[in-house]
Amino acid sequence: MDNKSMKIFNTDIAIVGGGAAGMAAAVAAAQEGEKVIILEKMNACGGNGLFPMGLAAVGSYLQKSLNIKADADDMFRQVMAYSHWNADPRLNRVLIDRSGETIKWLSDMGVNFTNVIAHYPGQNPPVYHTVSGPGNTGRVVIRRLVETFKKLDGKILNHTRGRQLLFDKGGAVQGILAETDKGEQIRVDASAVIVATGGFAGNDDLLGRLIPDYDPKDYLYIHGARPEGDGFIMMEQAGARVDRNIAIAGGAPQITAKRTAVSRLIARPYSIWLNIHGERFADEMVVYDMALGVNVLRRQPEKICYVILDSEVLKRINDEGRDPMEQMGLPPGVEERFDEDYQRCVDEGYAVIADTLGEIARFMGVPAKKIKESIEEYNSFCAKGRDAMFCKDPRLMMPVKTPPYYVIKAGIDQLFTWGGVVINHRFQVLDSNMQPIKGLYSAGNDAAGGIDGDTYNFAMSGHAFGYSVIGGRIAGENASEVGRKME
Ligand SMILES: Cc1cc2nc3c(=O)[nH]c(=O)nc-3n(C[C@H](O)[C@H](O)[C@H](O)COP(=O)(O)OP(=O)(O)OC[C@H]3O[C@@H](n4cnc5c(N)ncnc54)[C@H](O)[C@@H]3O)c2cc1C
Repeated sequence: MDNKSMKIFNTDIAIVGGGAAGMAAAVAAAQEGEKVIILEKMNACGGNGLFPMGLAAVGSYLQKSLNIKADADDMFRQVMAYSHWNADPRLNRVLIDRSGETIKWLSDMGVNFTNVIAHYPGQNPPVYHTVSGPGNTGRVVIRRLVETFKKLDGKILNHTRGRQLLFDKGGAVQGILAETDKGEQIRVDASAVIVATGGFAGNDDLLGRLIPDYDPKDYLYIHGARPEGDGFIMMEQAGARVDRNIAIAGGAPQITAKRTAVSRLIARPYSIWLNIHGERFADEMVVYDMALGVNVLRRQPEKICYVILDSEVLKRINDEGRDPMEQMGLPPGVEERFDEDYQRCVDEGYAVIADTLGEIARFMGVPAKKIKESIEEYNSFCAKGRDAMFCKDPRLMMPVKTPPYYVIKAGIDQLFTWGGVVINHRFQVLDSNMQPIKGLYSAGNDAAGGIDGDTYNFAMSGHAFGYSVIGGRIAGENASEVGRKME
């Protein structure tokens, strides 16, 4: 294409993707006095950054005011041990160290954080920072970032999809080619480019190539937007090294997102889980840590299980009311919809109400003897107050003995990819020799492989969003230094 028919923009920093990481990067760079252009393929900014209920941080003013002891060194040790040091220590150090002050940074923009909650019982310290009032945390954070960016005269090109990174002869980035929904060709000349297009959870080919045992059939559905991997592909083509830690973050056991009232039952660990052979296979308490739930179910045949509870358990869940996570995430009146929602699951074929263990066995297609054995063994553990198989906390063990029984066939759902290209602690993208590609930065899910090992760490619950915002901010600051050197 000749330059005459191409629209050309000139800026200090170009950012591809206006979601959590891209918006934070944009504000940080604009605050440094840089001229910034965001290319965002959708009609509005936010991406999956619009969904999070909370954001992880350690040592924030809010934790201090709530008397929560959240020590950066303790958290660093914890995060690195969890990953068996497969995570990048410098990257985690900077993310943890800058997390508390990033809560202040967002609060100064008008994000009113009101609580720090434990994502699961016993999580210590709580790190999940939430807002109250209308709108979930992600939506509020994105709204404030966009407002601030506009006040700083930042430019957003919506309906504009970044296509190809441009480099000078010395290998330094010099801009990006893009295309609008109407087919207009755009070139943005810039001294630094930050790529933040949200990963590749919606790209089966990439998932198949990068995650050896990936099969789209194993997942019930993908939440939120389906990132196509544009940023990852562009950076890989430009010679970026691919991180060896690539995982899918999701939740399990799960059913379709539409049946919220039934999901609520599954998300409590009082039930018993049996695989397709009628065998119990886990401490059901792992359901509190979505990443562990996924790992557990991925080992099971067909990657599904049957969640079984009786009427007493149902009553206990209803009597207990909502836990903190449910208070944030569930729409009003969902409990009253239980019977209707459950009936839909029955009609759709993946749930049953059974009066006898034989009926459970028939629904699962497993010999009745096996179901009886598995349930009797679990009931005996409940009676003795000791799970001699998987060491489940006795406080969460309730026998399956009071019909009718509720049996739900459940699987794995998919939230986002957790991996991507290799970056360093300055959020520079590295080449195959682990050297920075000049002027190229990345943050968010396109470059998340250095954060955890093979499993998302829920001790830092909310760190997908937290890492994206904090990392985007750091990428924006560091890219600004490149911009200034060019002056
Ligand atoms: C349902 C759901 C709930 C979640 N809840 C939580 C939570 O509670 N806590 C937590 O920590 N994390 C949560 N996450 C994860 C979190 O939302 C993501 O980790 C975070 O949004 C990633 O930020 P990002 O900037 O990398 O991507 P995104 O925020 O998705 O932004 C990427 C942006 O890039 C744009 N884009 C893509 N390709 C191009 C292109 N070629 N050119 C221009 N623009 C492009 C997209 O349109 C999008 O706006 C949740 C995710 C989902 C889906």
